Amino acid sequence: MTLRGRLTTAFLVVVLGPVLLGSIFVAVTVATVSRDRTAERLDHAATTVRTGLAATCRQLQAAADAVAVVPPDARWDVVGQLIARGLATDIRIVATTPPPRPPGATDELDGWQDCATPATEVAGQSSNAVAARAVTGDLTVVAAQATDHDFMTRLAAAAGAEVTFTSPEQPADEGRRLTPQPGQPLFLTVTVPSHQPAFLYAVLPAVVLAVALAAVLVARRLAHSTTRPLGELAWAADRVADGELDTRVPIPHPDELGRLAATFNRMTRELQAYVQALTASRDQLRGHLAILGETLSSTHDLHRILQVILRTALAATGARAGLVLLIDHSSGQLVAQCGLGLAGRWDVPEAELPQQRLPLGEGVLGGVAATGEPRRGRGELASSEPPCRTYVAVPICAPGVPEEPGDPAPFPETLGVLALYDRVGGDTFDDSDLSTLRTFAGQAGVAVHNVRMHEEAQRLSLTDPLTGLWNYRYLRESLRREVERASRFGRMLAVLVLDLDHFKDVNDTYGHAAGDAVLGEFARRIRVGLREVDVAFRQGGEEFVVLLPETDAYGGAIVAERLGAAVRERPVIVDGIPVPISVSIGVAVYPEHGENSPQVLGAADRALYAAKNAGRDTYRLAEPADVTKSGVSPGDQDGDFDPTTAVPSGPRPPQHRRGR
Ligand code: GH3
Ligand code: MG
Ligand code: MG
Repeated sequence: MTLRGRLTTAFLVVVLGPVLLGSIFVAVTVATVSRDRTAERLDHAATTVRTGLAATCRQLQAAADAVAVVPPDARWDVVGQLIARGLATDIRIVATTPPPRPPGATDELDGWQDCATPATEVAGQSSNAVAARAVTGDLTVVAAQATDHDFMTRLAAAAGAEVTFTSPEQPADEGRRLTPQPGQPLFLTVTVPSHQPAFLYAVLPAVVLAVALAAVLVARRLAHSTTRPLGELAWAADRVADGELDTRVPIPHPDELGRLAATFNRMTRELQAYVQALTASRDQLRGHLAILGETLSSTHDLHRILQVILRTALAATGARAGLVLLIDHSSGQLVAQCGLGLAGRWDVPEAELPQQRLPLGEGVLGGVAATGEPRRGRGELASSEPPCRTYVAVPICAPGVPEEPGDPAPFPETLGVLALYDRVGGDTFDDSDLSTLRTFAGQAGVAVHNVRMHEEAQRLSLTDPLTGLWNYRYLRESLRREVERASRFGRMLAVLVLDLDHFKDVNDTYGHAAGDAVLGEFARRIRVGLREVDVAFRQGGEEFVVLLPETDAYGGAIVAERLGAAVRERPVIVDGIPVPISVSIGVAVYPEHGENSPQVLGAADRALYAAKNAGRDTYRLAEPADVTKSGVSPGDQDGDFDPTTAVPSGPRPPQHRRGR
């Protein structure tokens, strides 16, 4: 059953029920009142009839008595007068003791009902008169009043009711039956016209019908007007459920349903706005994630990667500012890497961010880095941290990669902290923000780890594992880059090629391991003897190369001498045994000894050859380029260094020692 049907039924029950009950009550009440009134009228009429008949009997008795007391000869005169005055309709004088009558004979007084001896059985209209007797001697005077139509009409008129002789056929419940008694000798029935309100009984069903009809119509209309907005609402809700968020319902009246419709419209409008905002932010986030994915896969620029991760985290959580810090294990501090939205709250230019350092364990950020536990809340930050109203900070952890497949993942190492500040809207960051930020911190951890692994791999591929110096591969690239830079800025670049003397003998005498140790120590002494801008390489075996930017032949000679002295004067101690070594060095200078990196390196090699030829444990300066090109063999320049030709300025280097 529909809601409309239920409402209609309910309305009809509520309206028609009382109407019907009221009608029945009215009908019953009216019937009762009418019956009571009829009974009252019958009582009254019966009393009147009895009284009237009693009066008639008394009047007849008086007439009979009057005739009986007068002398016999005057009796008929009196009779005449009495009849003329209407005191009796007939007066007879009969023998007091009548002679016995033969069977079947009729008496003249038959049908006269004596007032003193009431009738004993219902005899219909057999009584045609009432009579009274007065005995005088052997005569009896009988005065009668005919109970004819006139008499009955008068009686009825006096009683205000219809008066009839009771007949045996008459139903017992019709009218009031008067039983004979002294003074009222007749069987009479008094009836009054029924006072049933026929009009009322006719009108009442009509009224009920009309009310029912009206109720049905009103109920239908009410149900319709109630259910129509509900139907529209249901239809609109269906459309909204199907995703058509621009659906609205009309607001017919400002009643409860109108308010419901208005609320529905407002709810749908806000839902639409919310969905639009969500879609926009999803698109924005999608854009950020695309950039993030592209950045992660295309670069090892850690700063850029962290910046993109931070920007994406801000977009995903609706934070106003953010900061990424990484742990510097050498200093035990957190070092700021990049920040967004910090202007106005932490006045540190982007370029100076790495100078912002926080001790581990201090403040919120230091605490997160030290414990590896995320934190979120309001205010309460250390003075060295960016001020904010709300914050969330999570650790950036390295992905735990088991050493062997199947091993449990190691406890992740904390690499730094990712922090966001001041969520838009002023609320504190919630659990979902925390979990989102953990995701981004996880990505940052992987990125930092990858970049560091890459740097390490890079370093390993470019460095020599035995000595820790750059390897031959990196030498070529560095030499090219340094020559190019020297060329661009019009500077000089000195290249030293070093080869340990008779190193085979060292191996043979002390063993290969001792040889390795000697190589490591030699490399260390090279590093110690150089400036920060100088770069040392192991070219292979026991050959080394040193690049001295912005250094001329004179400066190169000084360094060569110093390095030679560094090993010559202090034997390398291996397992407590001193291992004496020496080194031969060739020195070439760009652009003096070559126009490009291979030429300069070749010139230095030839100079080394010359130094070896000169007896080792010494250095030689390369021949000038044009001389080399002209076919003069390298190394023919004397080990006795002539700074006036090779080195245009600077202090004279010490004389190198010839080979041992
Ligand atoms: P010189 O250069 O003075 O002519 O004599 P040398 O003995 O150094 O001659 P050469 O260059 O022919 O020999 C180089 C030796 O260095 C050969 C090898 O035994 C040794 N050597 C090369 N690389 C390594 C290394 O990585 N470890 C050790 N222990 N020895 C090495
Ligand atoms: Mg060699
Ligand atoms: Mg050698």
